[in-house]
Amino acid sequence: MAATTTKQVKLEKECELRVEVSPDSPLRVRLLSGTAEIFGTEMPPQVWLSFPPFVKFAVFTWYGATIEMDGATETYYTADETPMVSYVNVHAVLDARRNRAKASPSDSESSQGPRVIVVGPTDSGKSTLSRMLLSWAAKQGWKPTFVDLDIGQGTITIPGCIAATPIESPIDPVEGIPLEMPMVYFHGHPTPSANADLYKILARELAKILERQFAGNTESRAAGMVINTMGWVDGLGYELLLHAIDAFNATVVLVLGQEKLCSMLKDVLQSKPNVDVVKLQKSGGVVSRNAKVRQRARGHRIREYFYGLSNDLSPHSNVANFGDLTVYKFGGGPQAPRSALPIGAEPAADPIRLVQVKIDSNFLHLVLAVSFAKEPDEIISSNVAGYIYVTEVDTQRNKITYLAPSSGELPSRFLIMGSLTWIEN
Ligand code: ADP
Repeated sequence: MAATTTKQVKLEKECELRVEVSPDSPLRVRLLSGTAEIFGTEMPPQVWLSFPPFVKFAVFTWYGATIEMDGATETYYTADETPMVSYVNVHAVLDARRNRAKASPSDSESSQGPRVIVVGPTDSGKSTLSRMLLSWAAKQGWKPTFVDLDIGQGTITIPGCIAATPIESPIDPVEGIPLEMPMVYFHGHPTPSANADLYKILARELAKILERQFAGNTESRAAGMVINTMGWVDGLGYELLLHAIDAFNATVVLVLGQEKLCSMLKDVLQSKPNVDVVKLQKSGGVVSRNAKVRQRARGHRIREYFYGLSNDLSPHSNVANFGDLTVYKFGGGPQAPRSALPIGAEPAADPIRLVQVKIDSNFLHLVLAVSFAKEPDEIISSNVAGYIYVTEVDTQRNKITYLAPSSGELPSRFLIMGSLTWIEN
């Protein structure tokens, strides 16, 4: 249903308008009458919201609304069957638990609000449900912590990272999660399989830091966490999910759209009486994305980091001598010296050992993280300040040109590389 004109859509109560913005131009949407929300955040009346190309979203109304759209859509339709009532019921249960936690600030056990982890296969609506739960909680004045473990997409900063940030107000339907002081650890690859040991260690580090923050902040402790995970739910992916549930001490596991995963998790977690495993229906509105679309989305996220959602940021092009920067990567060197191994055995690479890498022409198009570490051995436990993108490597003059969000000195000379690349277009 391709359309380019202005159109009005009347929504009955508990219905939603599902929209896929055209790949070529943005779409403006506004609420003409009634009340409606986009993924948990209320739409302001009469104000045009401009969605960039490719975006897929839904406008849901609890009591009825009229919506106006201006611009091109790939598709749009209304749906009267949604799982929203079951989602908001989960929110109500979480809200009651937050209130209980708030009521007993001095008891370290019961002052902890819900730690919710959302799991399910790719394209089951995990990020969307996480967003709704966070926005509904923020609307009621809570400041829940959002933890994103999905390194394939990276909703907080860029792909290749795991990150956490407090959500202090309902998430903007267009702008997404605000980038104020997120806590970010750089894995460096768009899939954890490239270095699963490192992924586990970084998840533990992030969990440890949050635990420390919660210890000193009863407000965020009571509000709890919502943890988004990646869509890899079997084999090593499943193992990493169990690891995350354990590392973050999750108390509520929400399983979207997969019976098998839900029953497996119920079985293994039955020994933990304080963990609830709840199966939830996947929304029929969730749009499936193939590998190519997901890769393009990754590129968009990186572009957005440097240039802003609507090209409103101006990144700086900087030139440095090779010697000005010290680049490390994880998983380079041998685990044990050959002399310590049985005769004939080949030393395996230690996945979490840090090795220094010489800058060469292979650096072109790499996205590197700038560590907050003061010393190399602090890198694994340090969060990152931001990222740079390599646009030119001159091996004749030993100079590297890179894009950074701002000009001037980088916050540290320690950079971390993985396999994350981006071709600017
Ligand atoms: P997952 O995190 O499980 O991979 P997402 O929550 O990212 O899945 O959803 C996949 C895509 O579907 C996203 O682009 C999201 O905006 C879109 N989407 C989710 N729910 C709806 C809905 N009810 N209507 C329209 N689009 C939706």
